[in-house]
Amino acid sequence: MNGQEEKKRQLIDDGLRSIWFPFTQMREFSPEDVLVIAEGKGTLLRDVDGRDYIDGVSSLWTNVHGHRKEQIDRAVKEQVDRLSHSTLLGLVHEPAIECAKKLLEVVPKGLTRVFYSESGSTAVEIALKMAFQYQKQAAGGNPDKTRFISFTNAYHGDTLGAVSVGGIDLFHAVYHELLFPTVKAESPYCYRCPFGASQPSCQFDCLKQLENLLATHASELAALIIEPLVQGAGGILVQPPGYLRRVRDLCTQYGVLMIADEVAVGFGKTGTMFACQQEGVTPDIMAVGKGLSGGYLPLAATVATEEIYSGFLGRFDEFKTFFHGHTYTGNPLACAAAVASLNIFTEERVVEGLAGKIKRFSQGLQPIAKLGHVGEIRQRGFMVGIELVADKKTKELYPPGARIGHRVILEARKRGLIIRPLGDVIVLMPPLCITNEEIDRLCEITLDSIRAVVGD
Ligand code: PLP
Repeated sequence: MNGQEEKKRQLIDDGLRSIWFPFTQMREFSPEDVLVIAEGKGTLLRDVDGRDYIDGVSSLWTNVHGHRKEQIDRAVKEQVDRLSHSTLLGLVHEPAIECAKKLLEVVPKGLTRVFYSESGSTAVEIALKMAFQYQKQAAGGNPDKTRFISFTNAYHGDTLGAVSVGGIDLFHAVYHELLFPTVKAESPYCYRCPFGASQPSCQFDCLKQLENLLATHASELAALIIEPLVQGAGGILVQPPGYLRRVRDLCTQYGVLMIADEVAVGFGKTGTMFACQQEGVTPDIMAVGKGLSGGYLPLAATVATEEIYSGFLGRFDEFKTFFHGHTYTGNPLACAAAVASLNIFTEERVVEGLAGKIKRFSQGLQPIAKLGHVGEIRQRGFMVGIELVADKKTKELYPPGARIGHRVILEARKRGLIIRPLGDVIVLMPPLCITNEEIDRLCEITLDSIRAVVGD
């Protein structure tokens, strides 16, 4: 072992001894599984050995402009020289104001107020509390409306409120007794339709069920929460066109607030700035995170309509205040990064440039779809899920212990690509700045890696 090798080994040993890694079975996590990342630039990540990898999942679906984007680097450095922390408790600072103004310019029309937090989970918690409290105290609310309707296969984060409205048993079932009960609707997982339907004869039984649930529970429902267009962590489950619009209309019809969780899909990932905009939808409350700061610093926001905001106004002794806030709420460094990131969207016309790349991506995926163990490829813009199955005809799953998805991503790593699976769904979600050549390479490596594990 040379000096560099020894240093790396030591780093990994120290890391495994001291860090409890997220979403990781530590007993099966070996030094060979760990890659120590040292640098990033654009679409590439470099490990401590100097090997480059395409970042096929934008770090954690966050680095929309790639790594070390010059304007964001500069904005954060300049902000460090001015102010790194303050609070929004009675004080304010320019980056928080600028960021809120710019964010309001790009969110769906009708959303007018920004409440900051630090992660997608907290943005969701805030959305749930806002909806609940609005119903309790606002002129337009109804105090009997205390419950939420959410979806199977939903993921809204790991804090307890977010887990309560989640719908992925693997992550959520163990906490059952800790959670508040919700009304659950089936999500449109069309490849494995819970109603046994298929295209083109599908009659949207999922929407009929949703309408029935809304009609039955309307008097007790504060809000519905949905991941618009794509359920991300549930397996990149893409909703059929028109579905989201219909959900919005049903919420309005039954007097149930609509919370859109755009944490995963926001900031260009589905091909428009926000997913809701593809179907002309304005939710009552919207949660954003991940890409907001370009993946630089923890920042999230819950954005509300004026009507929701107004429901919290009153004299102090009416106690309508939203008593919520965190130590890092609206942190200036994070807001400065977000301002720079939002400026890049405008200056570099990022969203306008996506259509061609999305097409190239679809073309690159075609050979993968032909493989014998690829059940389905789901794509919405830059979000792609490749579902691997033991049997393409019967859609039979692989046994979980086979860890097919995990083995595929290890093969990809050997070939210079970093991706992360959701079970046996291989997820691709590259930074929006990826070039056409890199898209081709991303698809080629994914093809070869799947082949290496499950054959042609
Ligand atoms: N909501 C959605 C749709 C997500 O995909 C995620 C994270 O993946 C979250 C919320 C939680 O975000 P965070 O991990 O920043 O808490």
